[in-house]
Amino acid sequence: MAIDSNIASPAQPAGRSPSSADDDPDGPRAAAARVARQGEVLVALARVLPPDALLHRREDTVAYECDGLTAYREAPLLVALPRDEAQIAEILQVCHALDVPVVARGAGTGLSGGALPHRMGVTLSLARLNRILHLDPVARTAIVQCGVRNLAISEAAAPLGLYYAPDPSSQIACTIGGNIAENSGGVHCLKYGLTLHNILRIKGYTAQGEPVSFGSAALDAPGLDLVPLVVGSEGMLAVVTEVMVRLTPKPQLARCIMASFDSIETAGDAVASIIAAGIIPAGLELMDRPMTAAVENFVHAGYDLAAAAILLCESDGTTEEVAEEIGRMRAVLERSGATQIAISQDEAQRLRFWSGRKNAFPASGGMSPDYMCMDSTIPRRRLAQMLRAIEGMEQKYGLRCVNVFHAGDGNLHPLILYDANDPDQLHRCEQFGADILETSVRMGGTVSGEHGVGVEKLNSMCVQFSPAERECMLAVKRAFDPAGLLNPGKAVPTLQRCAEYGKMHVHRGLLPFPDLPRF
Ligand SMILES: Cc1cc2nc3c(=O)[nH]c(=O)nc-3n(C[C@H](O)[C@H](O)[C@H](O)COP(=O)(O)OP(=O)(O)OC[C@H]3O[C@@H](n4cnc5c(N)ncnc54)[C@H](O)[C@@H]3O)c2cc1C
Repeated sequence: MAIDSNIASPAQPAGRSPSSADDDPDGPRAAAARVARQGEVLVALARVLPPDALLHRREDTVAYECDGLTAYREAPLLVALPRDEAQIAEILQVCHALDVPVVARGAGTGLSGGALPHRMGVTLSLARLNRILHLDPVARTAIVQCGVRNLAISEAAAPLGLYYAPDPSSQIACTIGGNIAENSGGVHCLKYGLTLHNILRIKGYTAQGEPVSFGSAALDAPGLDLVPLVVGSEGMLAVVTEVMVRLTPKPQLARCIMASFDSIETAGDAVASIIAAGIIPAGLELMDRPMTAAVENFVHAGYDLAAAAILLCESDGTTEEVAEEIGRMRAVLERSGATQIAISQDEAQRLRFWSGRKNAFPASGGMSPDYMCMDSTIPRRRLAQMLRAIEGMEQKYGLRCVNVFHAGDGNLHPLILYDANDPDQLHRCEQFGADILETSVRMGGTVSGEHGVGVEKLNSMCVQFSPAERECMLAVKRAFDPAGLLNPGKAVPTLQRCAEYGKMHVHRGLLPFPDLPRF
């Protein structure tokens, strides 16, 4: 198995995954080979797993065909559902011996296609490893299995006055294993850091099924620090099974300001002014008018529907700290042209302010049959310029886009609205998305903020990184996984794929990557 399997698009557009040998897109011969291979792998895995840990019938595996990026689907060869680490090691050993790709899967909430199955591979569902193994209130750490839900850690730590700070909006469902693979963030990561900053030790297994451990309970560990390499590696370097996370004391108090602006520019400038004033809010989020209208309909959070944009700015700490910081933020917001300011008076109102932001993605479901959530970063001073650029793209591609972002981090989440049943709309949506990502790079940003690259952003990685930089990433992949079996075809584009994309770029009348003008 070569690791350059992302030369061809690894994903099928929605609805094209084969349900039987007869409708296999690659023809009857490929279908027969696949069925034979499935039988071979099934027999080998059935020797090491109980029957309830293996799914192979289409009706049983269909739920695993995509993640949150529902535009792309693929049927896995098999789904394995191990209960413990011994079973994980055996699955990996069998797959390695048979040269079978393995795609780890947590809750499948990923938005970049990271857990999209491999057509000839095993999807390794880690949902059954869901135990919290140890809580240490003195060291302020928890040791949890990889399938534990993000929110479950905070719920377990709450009686100790502690919580796990990174809070993706999907935290009710997503797993800590998935969070590590994507280096997930959330509204409170501006102040408390991303997943990487809240992880001390990772245990897992290599593609060969060998146990490995990176990091330590101490602040430093001897040898090369591989924790930052594994965090964000999208299931390509190791299967994570157990994690030691940091726990943070729950703040005494939190209050949230909701500020309205009559233009996106003034809202964007207000974000930059808050940070420039030396304030690091616990959360600093921006939503544009179409987004607030959609969520207001959905959760009735009390948003100002007349505003062109609203900002949510949170302060947490002791009562005195919060009072002082809220006062400073309010002054900056007023100076920056806020047209209306509301400050949460109690916890219920604070949660109501956030309920809209936290439900922004599901609320978009009311506006369109499908949405594609993009995720890029730009320097904060470019926020308004970027939103104007996106408005132009709405005209260019004939699709609507609503915006919500972690404004404090400069992390954009434009939601492009489309209908996946219309292939032309899907195509325009993909081009719209690539345009956003590549414009972000040209503004000095990156193609991914917190959702990973998966299959979604492979082409745009070619624009951001030079051949030498991409080859360094591929070399790291080879060092961990020489046979290229862990999640092949994701996250890092091959040199050949980028060469093809470069030719397409020029064919579409665009400049070659190195010559693209920077803003
Ligand atoms: C409504 C909604 C809101 C969201 N909000 C946010 C947000 O605010 N911030 C944010 O960062 N993300 C957000 N996401 C994206 C998503 O929830 C995160 O990327 C999350 O970390 C994925 O976790 P998961 O368990 O669902 O992983 P999956 O989707 O199952 O997998 C994601 C990746 O992790 C790998 N993986 C999973 N488990 C393991 C493991 N144990 N070992 C090795 N690799 C593994 C997979 O191979 C895949 O590459 C949101 C998604 C949705 C649907």
